[in-house]
Amino acid sequence: MDCLFCKIVEKKIPSKTVYEDENVLAFEDLNPQAPVHILVVPKKHISTSLDIGDEDNELIGQLFQAANKIAKKRDVAERGFRLVMNCNREAGQSVFHIHLHMLAGRAMHWPPG
Ligand code: AMP
Ligand code: ZN
Repeated sequence: MDCLFCKIVEKKIPSKTVYEDENVLAFEDLNPQAPVHILVVPKKHISTSLDIGDEDNELIGQLFQAANKIAKKRDVAERGFRLVMNCNREAGQSVFHIHLHMLAGRAMHWPPG
């Protein structure tokens, strides 16, 4: 399967890893939109949030737990951070392997663009 984030998970394409455990990898976004912009991805390939199955419920919890650990490590937990998962084209999903964007280090706007 030709998936960019699977290749990053398999270390076939380099990335700046910020967190890794058995099921989750987090790395710096190549095109950061905030002072902190980290992508938190499951090692398992899941194309979009619509493809999350009942068997993935624990894994999705682990994604959020990883994001929380990173937020504390980067010292943005108290200030605040935004977690975003885009689903399909109109939301702006461009890599079809689910990922949480963790954005922090500046004030976030609402409504989002
Ligand atoms: P999305 O548009 O929500 O699917 O997010 C995909 C994200 O992946 C974008 O923010 C890109 O900047 C980021 N991205 C694309 N290629 C790479 C890469 N090789 N390493 C790190 N981040 C990447
Ligand atoms: Zn993948």
